[in-house]
Amino acid sequence: MLTRLEIESHEDVWRVEDEASGLTGFIALHSTRLGPAAGGLRMRPYPDTDAALADVLNLSRGMSYKNAAANLPLGGGKAVIIGHPDSKTPAMLRAMGRAIDKLEGRYWTAEDMGMSPADMAHIAQETDYVAGRDSGPFASGDPSPVTARGVFDAMRVGARHAFGSDDLRGRHVAVQGLGHVGWHLCRLLHETGARLTVADTVPARVEEARAEFAAEAGDTATIHAAPADIFAPCAIGGILNATTIPEIRARLVAGAANNQLAAPGDADALHARGILYLPDYVANGGGIINVAAEILRIEDRAPWVEDKLAALSTTMERILDRARAEDRSPAHLADTIVAERGL
Ligand code: NAD
Repeated sequence: MLTRLEIESHEDVWRVEDEASGLTGFIALHSTRLGPAAGGLRMRPYPDTDAALADVLNLSRGMSYKNAAANLPLGGGKAVIIGHPDSKTPAMLRAMGRAIDKLEGRYWTAEDMGMSPADMAHIAQETDYVAGRDSGPFASGDPSPVTARGVFDAMRVGARHAFGSDDLRGRHVAVQGLGHVGWHLCRLLHETGARLTVADTVPARVEEARAEFAAEAGDTATIHAAPADIFAPCAIGGILNATTIPEIRARLVAGAANNQLAAPGDADALHARGILYLPDYVANGGGIINVAAEILRIEDRAPWVEDKLAALSTTMERILDRARAEDRSPAHLADTIVAERGL
């Protein structure tokens, strides 16, 4: 059921198949240089296996950078299942669990898009190498609230650089995506007195945000171009691209989505327009910090998570300071800092 693929950019990549449960997916280990590879499991109705493979390769590479940026003793890995989350079954998840178990701890999984703590419990019936669980020793639960906290903290650091103050009160933030992370982020922003414009492909979520956070409804096709101070991509990857970048009106881009830049050159395009882009894998590192406390079996998790979040903010500060001093995009400086940490 595990077929190894030869892919030069990655340490190990497997195609995972289980006919009985209908599981088709991939597990990719980008690097285990800094520790066992850790990164979530995503389920999406990919158009074909090539698209799923491209996603898992991208995401696992991103995890290497994210874990190094958060100073965690973990490498980068990721797994994907091809299919709509509605078609998910316990048998499918258990088959994925068996595949993960065969890697004997070189890869730790957790939730990503399309997955919940309940799904992790199914996987845990087959393997110990699963985190983001709701119960059991060291269980860390849903990482999204901590991811949102990390994005919020990063946004404050970014605001200090972009606007001269980290006070988000009165700032106008356009949030794309009101899912697990976007929703918590909206709550934090609303509580601090920020003004929100929000967009989601599910209209009911937008209605809820209007009621709960006095948010304004934005258009999903143009939320990136809202006349806001800050654009927060919290939905899909590739949202910062040749089409959207010229239309962005915010001076700061800070969000949770993975792989926000469609191409590496897009970081330079943002920089050239004077838009401060917070490297996604640093801004959204809170979730993996939360998960890492479970993987690393941290006894007193709350203060440990707080310390790591504070260190992540300091890393963001260093990245933005160096980016300003060198007049380059923070995306490049983030890669440099991660490389200095031995990735
Ligand atoms: P989610 O699936 O809960 O939420 C995504 C939301 O975006 C959904 O409400 C969906 O309807 C909406 N959406 C999808 N396409 C959209 C579009 N084109 N325009 C507007 N809205 C759209 O996912 P999540 O867990 O909140 O994660 C959001 C992003 O953050 C993802 O890119 C994910 O990889 C990344 N991320 C999440 C975590 C975490 O802890 N959950 C950690 C790190 C990074």
